[in-house]
Amino acid sequence: MISRVDRMKRENLKNTLEELSSHGNRWIGREGERLTSSYILNMFNELGMDEVLTQEFKVLDYIPISCSLQLTSPIQEEVVCEPLQFTECCQVEGEVVFLGEFENYSRSLDLSTYDLKDKVVLIVSDTPAFYIDDLVKKKAVGLIVATDAPNGLIRALAGKTYPPPLDDDIDLWKATIPGVVISKKSLYRLLSLMSLRKVKVSIEHKADYRTVTTRNVIGVLSSLDKNNNEEILLGAHYDSQMKGLGVWDNLTGLSTLLELARILSMNRDNRRNIVFAAFGAEEVGLWGSALYVNNRKEEIKANCVAMFCLDAVSTIFSNKKSLWSEGKLRDFIIERSIRYGFRIDNVHPLDLSYSDYYPFAINGVPSAMLWENPPTHPYYHTEEDTIEYINFDKLASIGNFILALIDEIVYYPNLNFSNKK
Ligand SMILES: [Zn+2]
Repeated sequence: MISRVDRMKRENLKNTLEELSSHGNRWIGREGERLTSSYILNMFNELGMDEVLTQEFKVLDYIPISCSLQLTSPIQEEVVCEPLQFTECCQVEGEVVFLGEFENYSRSLDLSTYDLKDKVVLIVSDTPAFYIDDLVKKKAVGLIVATDAPNGLIRALAGKTYPPPLDDDIDLWKATIPGVVISKKSLYRLLSLMSLRKVKVSIEHKADYRTVTTRNVIGVLSSLDKNNNEEILLGAHYDSQMKGLGVWDNLTGLSTLLELARILSMNRDNRRNIVFAAFGAEEVGLWGSALYVNNRKEEIKANCVAMFCLDAVSTIFSNKKSLWSEGKLRDFIIERSIRYGFRIDNVHPLDLSYSDYYPFAINGVPSAMLWENPPTHPYYHTEEDTIEYINFDKLASIGNFILALIDEIVYYPNLNFSNKK
């Protein structure tokens, strides 16, 4: 039966997260990424799960070589920049056009009033990959992305996202124009010059691409009822962006997943299968979750009753608590949040390929992500995404709410969220 006692403890979450962060950066192919996937695999085995497996797959690694952003007119000046990952390697020149701040969670772009031919486009965004193809169609030649991280920090961002290729042509996978990322301070410098006259720049971007192998790590707790093939899937990506320890994104999600695995392994009275999935290569375009769904699409469509995505769960900041979900699962979570006194501030649909729920959601699996946004963690995708910005009491309270939802779904097999008749 459902226990109302808070079973996920802040100290356990903190210890797990600290241990995970000792592996270092977890960018695809790096040592920290391998150590982390082995740690997860060992843990699933030690918990004595009924099934533990890995799914290996190839992913395109991005190795930055150099980038530069040079003002060429009306003055000559070098602007500090970072490469926009997975963009073209070449040098381009053009006049800069500022398109404003792109709302991170909307893909609808009206570019009809802009002439972008041969222009270098300047935008403020954390998700430039959602827009770059539209800019290419309008014949823009380069992209400057300004981020709003404090203290002159520049976020690590990618110019390409879902769907990943997952086939032999993976090395062709990049945006067809070069891109760079700049700080907020440099954005203001550019805008002030642009307010006086036309500004021209030269962008150069060089990188290497190579194929590396990574993996998903999967653990299963089988249903007590052996005739029930239904499953609930709990997923968290374990890779990080190229900079720093990626504590918010995504050791908060991964440690919550591992604590859920530990707690639910003790019970073993679930009446639906519980699948724990630690996904690889999320930051470069949801490769792990896309592969997981593609490999067993029919089975997942038939049997996966709910998917919970744990990504960038909680911070010390007073961000909005946000539920990304749709349909009956969303209604169920909102109803339970009221019953348990768990505050949810806003609800968002699942129409963006923002995290690992997406390959599930587009295949009709009722999915949900509970996290804190807006605003985004100020140090998102920077080296300052560290443990000091995590409130473990808050993380545990979200973990316990999710645990209560899972409890109910796995103990009551009549509970269904499918929108199918
Ligand atoms: Zn993430």
